[in-house]
Amino acid sequence: MKYVLITGGVVSGLGKGVTASSIGVVLKACGLRVTSIKIDPYLNIDAGTMSPFEHGEVFVLDDGGEVDLDLGNYERFLDVTLTKDNNITTGKIYQSVLEKERKGDYLGKTVQVVPHITDAIKDRIESVAVIPVDGKEDPADVCVIELGGTVGDIESMPFIEALRQLSFQVGPDNFCLIHVSLIPVLGVVGEQKTKPTQHSVRELRALGLTPHLLTSRSAEPLLESTKEKLSKFCHVPVENILNIHDVPNIWHVPLLLRNQNAHHSILQQLNLLSQATPPDLQQWTEMAESYDNLTESVRIAMVGKYVGLTDSYLSVVKALLHACVARSLKPSIDWIAASDLEDDSAKSTPEAHAVAWKTLKSAACVLVPGGFGDRGVKGMMLAAKYARENNVPYLGICLGMQISVIEFARSVLGWERAHSVEFDAQTPNPVVIFMPEGSRTHMGSTMRLGSRRTLFQTSDCITSKLYGNSEYVDERHRHRYEVNPDVIGNLEEAGLRFVGKDESGKRMEILELPSHPFYVGAQFHPEFKSRPARPSALFLGLILAATGKLEAYISRQNGS
Ligand code: GLN
Repeated sequence: MKYVLITGGVVSGLGKGVTASSIGVVLKACGLRVTSIKIDPYLNIDAGTMSPFEHGEVFVLDDGGEVDLDLGNYERFLDVTLTKDNNITTGKIYQSVLEKERKGDYLGKTVQVVPHITDAIKDRIESVAVIPVDGKEDPADVCVIELGGTVGDIESMPFIEALRQLSFQVGPDNFCLIHVSLIPVLGVVGEQKTKPTQHSVRELRALGLTPHLLTSRSAEPLLESTKEKLSKFCHVPVENILNIHDVPNIWHVPLLLRNQNAHHSILQQLNLLSQATPPDLQQWTEMAESYDNLTESVRIAMVGKYVGLTDSYLSVVKALLHACVARSLKPSIDWIAASDLEDDSAKSTPEAHAVAWKTLKSAACVLVPGGFGDRGVKGMMLAAKYARENNVPYLGICLGMQISVIEFARSVLGWERAHSVEFDAQTPNPVVIFMPEGSRTHMGSTMRLGSRRTLFQTSDCITSKLYGNSEYVDERHRHRYEVNPDVIGNLEEAGLRFVGKDESGKRMEILELPSHPFYVGAQFHPEFKSRPARPSALFLGLILAATGKLEAYISRQNGS
C-alpha cells in the first residue's frame, strides 16, 4: 500500500478536504485505484452526536457510519463507497485501547500514549487502507489520508507521531507527505507572505516529518519568487510547490493540480511512474468548465431549522448542484429559517417574517431537508402547505417528509392536533411515531441508519420513473421516527400515496401527491448518494418540475 498523507498548517478551513480529494481524483485519473481515510483528532467516537450547526452536516455511509462531512467529498470526488472505519477519531482509538486494557490484553504493562495509542493508530490505518471501496475485490493502490486539524494542535500529536513511525516503517517509496498551508497577502503592496508556512513546516519537521510537496492556498496565483522562497526555507523542491488559488468552483481544483504536474511529483515520490498513465481528466474538465458557463439559474427555497452555516446541509447543496448542472442550470438557493415563516415571527420580527414569505413565494420549488428538534417545525409545515396548495414543486427529505404528512393530516384530514411524537408525545393523532429497528433502551442504537431497501409499490408513479423504472432503490437513512402505519389508510383515502415502502411493508419510504405536479417526500436521504455526473433522481425530479420539464423528461425516459 502506498500512502499520501495530507496535513494542514497555519489556519483551519483551508479546504484541506477538497485538496485531498482532488489529489485522489488526479491519481485516479492516472489509472490508479484510490481509497481514503479521514482522521479527526477529536474525542467523539463519531460525528453522530455532533451538531451540524457547529461542525457541518453529519454524513451517512452505506454501512450506517455517521461521519465527518469530508467523507462525503471523498465519495463524491472519487466515486467510492467508504466504510465507517475510513473515519478514524481519537475516540475510536482510545475506545479500542481501553477495551483491550480492561480485558487484560496488555499483560500487566503500563498502557501509554506511546507506544499503545500510536500502535493502535498505525494498525487501524493499515487495516482500513486495504478495505476495497470501489466495488473491486482487492485493495486500492493508494490511500490518501487526511489528518484533520492543524499541525501543532495538542490533540493531533499522537497521530503525527504514529504517522511518522508509519512513514519510516513503510519506507520512502510508499509514503508521500503533502502539507497544505496559507499564503496571505498583506498591506497595500500586496506581498505574498511565506512566514506562516515556514513556521508550520518547521513545526512538522521538528516532529520528524518533512513534506515532499507543499500546497499553498492563496487568493491570487503564487509568484515565482514566492515559490522560490518557500522552496528554500521549507526544504521542498520548487517543482513540488503547488498552488491552489481561488477558482470559480471546486471542480477546478483537480485541474489546477494536474496543470502543475502534481501527479508527476507524487508518482515519482511513490515510485509509481511506470505503473501510471497520463491523467485523463476530460470529463472532469468538461464538467468544471460547463459549470462556469451556465447563465440560467433556478431558485430553490431551502426551509431549514437554522440557515447560518450552509455546511450544515452540505450534501443537499451538492445534490442540488449536481441536478442543476445536469439540466444546464445554476442553483440559486434561497435559505429560509423556518421559524421566520411562523405566525409568532410576524409579531416578534415582522421584517424577517415578510422577507421569508416573499422569498418562499418567489422560489420555483421548495425543499425541506432533514433535521432534529422542534425548532422551526411550524414554519416547515407552513412551507409544505404553501407548496401543496399552490402546486409548487416540493421535496421533503426525512423530517421534510414527516412534516408533509403532519401538515396533510391537519389540513386535509382535519386532524388539527396531528403531530409527530418527537414533537408532541401527547398528540391525539400520532401520524409520525417512534419505530426503532434495534434496541429501545441503548442510547444511539435506536436510530435507523445506513443503506436500506425501498420497494416501489407501483410503477405508475413519478419517483419510480425518475429512478429509471427500477423495482427497488437502496438509499441511506438516519432517523428514529416514521409515518404511523395505522394511519396510512386515512392518508391514502384523502389522496396521499405511499409509493415506496421497506421490505416489511410497514415503513413508509416515499410519498407522492398525485394531484400535484411534484410533491414528494422521502424518509431516506437521497443527497448522500448523489454524484457530480450522476445526480440523485429525486433532486433531478425537483429541478425538472421547477422548470416545467418533468413531464417531457419522464415521457422521453419511457420512450413514449
Ligand atoms: N427527527 C426525525 C427522526 O428522527 C427526522 C430525522 C432526519 O430528518 N434525519 O425521524
